[in-house]
Amino acid sequence: MTQVDVSPPTDFIREIIEDNFKTNKYGGRVATRFPPEPNGYLHIGHAKSVCLNFGIASQYGATCNLRLDDTDPSGESLEYVESIIHDIRWLGFDWEDRLFYASDYFEQLYQFAVQLIKAGKAYVCSLSADEIREYRGTLTEPGRESPYRKRSVDENLDLFTRMRAGEFEDGTHVLRAKINMTSPNIVMRDPVIYRIKRAPHYRTDIQWVIYPMYDFAHCLSDSIERITHSICTLEFENNRPLYDWIVAQLIADDRPQQIEFARLNLSYTILSKRKLIELVEERYITGWDDPRMPTIAGMRRRGYTPEAIRNFCAKIGVAKKENLVDISLLEYCVREDLNERAPRTMGVLRPLRVVIDNYPEGLTEEFECANHPQNPAMGKRMVPFSKVLYIERDDFDENPPNKYKRLGPMREVRLRNSYIIQYQSMVKDEQTGEVVELHCTYNPQTRNGPPSDGRKVEGVIHWVSANHSVPAEVRLYDRLFIIPDPASVEDDVTKYLNPGSLETLASCYVEVSLAHATPGSRYQFERLGYFCVDSKDSLPDKLVFNRIVSLRDSWGKIAGQGKG
Ligand code: ATP
Ligand code: MG
Repeated sequence: MTQVDVSPPTDFIREIIEDNFKTNKYGGRVATRFPPEPNGYLHIGHAKSVCLNFGIASQYGATCNLRLDDTDPSGESLEYVESIIHDIRWLGFDWEDRLFYASDYFEQLYQFAVQLIKAGKAYVCSLSADEIREYRGTLTEPGRESPYRKRSVDENLDLFTRMRAGEFEDGTHVLRAKINMTSPNIVMRDPVIYRIKRAPHYRTDIQWVIYPMYDFAHCLSDSIERITHSICTLEFENNRPLYDWIVAQLIADDRPQQIEFARLNLSYTILSKRKLIELVEERYITGWDDPRMPTIAGMRRRGYTPEAIRNFCAKIGVAKKENLVDISLLEYCVREDLNERAPRTMGVLRPLRVVIDNYPEGLTEEFECANHPQNPAMGKRMVPFSKVLYIERDDFDENPPNKYKRLGPMREVRLRNSYIIQYQSMVKDEQTGEVVELHCTYNPQTRNGPPSDGRKVEGVIHWVSANHSVPAEVRLYDRLFIIPDPASVEDDVTKYLNPGSLETLASCYVEVSLAHATPGSRYQFERLGYFCVDSKDSLPDKLVFNRIVSLRDSWGKIAGQGKG
């Protein structure tokens, strides 16, 4: 398999696999699968499962299938299938020719159901949904048997055939497994395994009007594909006895085993498809690929790299206990990766015009600047300098505090990769009193070193030459929600959306070297953070950048392991 190795040293799932090797449980075979339902886009929680399943396959020289678990027609679509395929490939994983659809197994699954009926292990029940619920009992009370439980095999076969043929309305009959209505595990109280649903399916159209339930379809799809380790999240723990029961009735050997692990919960965001769909449909954000979304598509558009996401998944590891992972750990992984790979440039987000009074009119100098301070292989670029510049509004303070290391009245500062300039005067807007222009002088001797009298100038600020820069729009992103654990709120989660999650700066200027920056390319704007050319809205004559992440490392501070 051509996969990137992202495997952490070990975890309880890998221990189970290695135990199975020792006892030769599957004859040394390991086969995993990633089984998304195409009813939404993949998010960072899915990435955890993708990295786990494909990572195991790669580590043990095994296979991992991609299976679209498309057995419920409502909400599933080809758009979602395509996005899932694209996202997993982008994450760096490969299923070779093993792309499967549970809907391709509909006939086989139907035949399995017939087999159960013939074995007296399933019956057609004609209670209503409400009645079924009522008969099911509670955690403290046993359930009661359905009056239809004693139907004969022949009657069941006849009814099930007619269910398939479309003779009955939705909800009039279901097929149930005949297990145990007094089981302490409610899941085992004669679960429904087939229902009538007259809804067109995006692949099988109107060919089927009955659809298998998840618990029935999933374990049998695993069996059909000869999966050995069926890895899923903890909420399916109670369903495992049912998984085993169904497989035991129908599969002779090499039965897959279900193993549960804790799902990823990430602070300041939500990883529930249902809630994410609501954000998309109600237009709280611009779409599945909005750079604020925790989706793979959103993170890709924002500028996160697959390497950073895989690293994050390796760092969080796999365990049996749920917790809330701090989103700043993900940002730390992104920053760490981009620090290596992103070329340095300069961009001014909130421009303030600076005129260098003693610089010759019409002169342009070009300064050679390294694209990466530690990596000469990333090359150099020429950065033009001229009489009129833009600096960051924040880098000038009319009344600077004592320790201010930037520009202010009577102060000097070094322009990054360039000269030291000295403040002379400012021009204010008469109406608003806002500073709109600075006049400074430059010291021609300071291009490559300190002033000749050895004076120390500590502050360094970034800049662009006004006539040699490119206008750009820059979008700054903040957390999607204002509370750390929006997933846990009982009421309407949209009340906790962060109104400041997007700030658009329409009049920025970036270095001329970025004039032809390609969509999706990533840069560090010195002192500001990492930025990515937006792949949707950026045009050759109107550059749009997304801020991927700032330079500030809040995770490092929290964990005490940052680079400072
Ligand atoms: P649904 O409620 O629609 O089932 P889901 O998020 O479970 O939503 P699936 O398409 O069933 O979506 O998920 C595919 C796989 O990804 C499953 O094996 C599931 O366990 C895993 N998965 C989903 N969410 C997470 C998460 N937050 N962390 C880890 N794995 C996850
Ligand atoms: Mg699911």
